[in-house]
Formats: sequence, structure tokens, C-alpha cells
Amino acid sequence: MEISVVIPVFNEEANLPLLHERLVNAVTSCSNDYEFIFVNDGSTDKSLQIIRDLAARFAQVKYIDFSKNFGHQLAVFAGLEHATGEYIVIIDADLQDPPELIQELYAKIKTGFDVVYAQRETRVGESWHKRFTAKLFYRFINTLSDVAIPLDTGDYRILTKRIKDIVVAMPERNKFLRGQIAWTGFNQSSVMYKRDERYSGKSNYSYTKMFSFAIDGITAFSNLPLRLATYLGFLVSLISFFVILYTLYQKYINHNVVQGWSSLMVSVMFIGGVQLICLGIIGEYLSRILDNVKQRPLYIVRDSNL
Ligand code: UDP
Ligand code: MG
Repeated sequence: MEISVVIPVFNEEANLPLLHERLVNAVTSCSNDYEFIFVNDGSTDKSLQIIRDLAARFAQVKYIDFSKNFGHQLAVFAGLEHATGEYIVIIDADLQDPPELIQELYAKIKTGFDVVYAQRETRVGESWHKRFTAKLFYRFINTLSDVAIPLDTGDYRILTKRIKDIVVAMPERNKFLRGQIAWTGFNQSSVMYKRDERYSGKSNYSYTKMFSFAIDGITAFSNLPLRLATYLGFLVSLISFFVILYTLYQKYINHNVVQGWSSLMVSVMFIGGVQLICLGIIGEYLSRILDNVKQRPLYIVRDSNL
């Protein structure tokens, strides 16, 4: 098998027929030895039925049907686990990632790279706050992390079997695949593209999902927040030391101790806030350790033609 295309699908019924058609055109111009792995991530619309129909008509169409919604990253991961190609493409199902770019990705990886990711030059039809938070996030995580995670890229990319095998062997539960792939090293490169508008439907990444995905990425690739909690502790202790000296001075030298409601409130609130932030940071890491210790299966397959 030369090329595997992994496609996570969550409620994409209106996009799938056109997606399949454009994928076939793009991939057959690279190789005739290919497979499409559709991972149905608990869709509640007709996506599964459409994928099954495609599978009945085209031998290259394979699918994995999850028992419920496990999330985008795990859908991609399941696809990677089952991909048999020498080269693996990861692409969204909503046609925001133009399938025609696969030709360019494939041509470039053939020149001796292990990963070629598609880097967004422009993003059409996404709100300014989505673009702004995305830009901010990629820069923020790169400041925090030792791993250079490419700016302005999603999961649309092509990788070699050797990288895929390494990523599939990583047992961690809170997947942040674009970081895990960057972390492997080897020769990585990029091509620029214009990210299209969603063909149909609306984004399934709510702000809550985006936020927890961001925390997954940060906790998986940086321990700096924990370090910052420690620094914050030292800083607050230092300030407290001077406040204590001042308090003692007021009591024993000035004999002036009755007033002080404002300063008391301010310090209780300040220390309380700092403590809660630090506990929260520790909690984020702790909950991820717990998730990993539980050793539950990453996803459950209801049906598949693999
Ligand atoms: N997706 C998924 N599971 C989810 C959410 C999304 O498999 O829980 C798929 C979705 O069908 C699409 C891709 O992941 O193929 C990207 O999702 P979306 O377009 O909603 O995200 P955005 O492009 O807005 O970041
Ligand atoms: Mg999308």
C-alpha cells in the first residue's frame, strides 16, 4: 500500500460525497495503490450510512465506527493505528483542507522528508476570534515548550510509515498529535496553503473543546506551568516577609494595631488567589496522570470493515 488517507468524521453527512470524489481525484494522480480510512466518531447524522455506501461501492474505502464520540484526536489516532500505507495523509472531512494539496504534499515528502505539514497562509470564513485565539495559542505553546511545534498548522499533513509507527506506539491518553509528531524529529517540512471555508455544517470545536485541547497540548509538552507555580510561591513569600516586618513594626514600635481591614482583605484575597491558581495547575497535571493510570481503552469500535 502506497498511500493511506485518515479522515476523522463527526456529523459530516453533507461533505462526504464531495470529499470522496475530490480525494479520489487527488490521490489517484499520485498512486493507484491507496486506501481511505474513515473514522466515524459517534456521528448522530447519516455520516455512517454514507460511509458504508461508499465502502460497498469502492474497495479502497475502509471505515471504523466508534461506539460514541471520543474526540477528534482519538479518531485520527485510530485511523493511524489501522493505516497500512507507506505514506499517511491526515485530513479533515469538512473540505477546509483542500484534498488537491495532497499532490503537493506527496511530491514533497518523496524528495526525502518524513513529515510535510500543510501550513495555513490564510484562513477563509473563520471568525476573527477563532483566528486570533489560534494564533495566540500556537505562539504561547511554543514559548512554553522545548518542542518546536509548527505555527499555524492543524493536523493536515503527510507522514511516513516510520513516523506513524512511532506516534502509534506512544501510549499517552491526552493526545496532541501535532506536537507528538513534531517531537519525533527527523526531517520535517511544510507547504503553504489557503485554508478554505467549511463546505457544509459548522465547526464541532466549541470554545470549551478548544480550551481543553490547548491545556492538553501545554501539559503534554511543558512542565513550565508547574515551575511558574513554584516561582509564584517564592515571590509571594518574599512579599509576605516584608509585610510581616511591617506588621511587627506597627505593633511593637508604633503601637498602632487596631486599623487594618483593607490590608487584611487585600492580603487574604491575594494569597487565596495565588494558592488556587497553583492548586489548579497541579490539578491539571494530576488529572492527566490519573487518566493515564486508569488504562482504559482509548476508544471502542462498534463496527469496522478492516
Ligand atoms: N471531528 C471529530 N470528532 C469531534 C470533532 C470533530 O472526528 O469530536 C472531526 C470533524 O468531522 C472534522 C475534523 O475533526 O473532520 C475537524 O473538526 P472541525 O471542522 O469541527 O474543527 P475546526 O476545523 O473548526 O477546527
Ligand atoms: Mg473544520
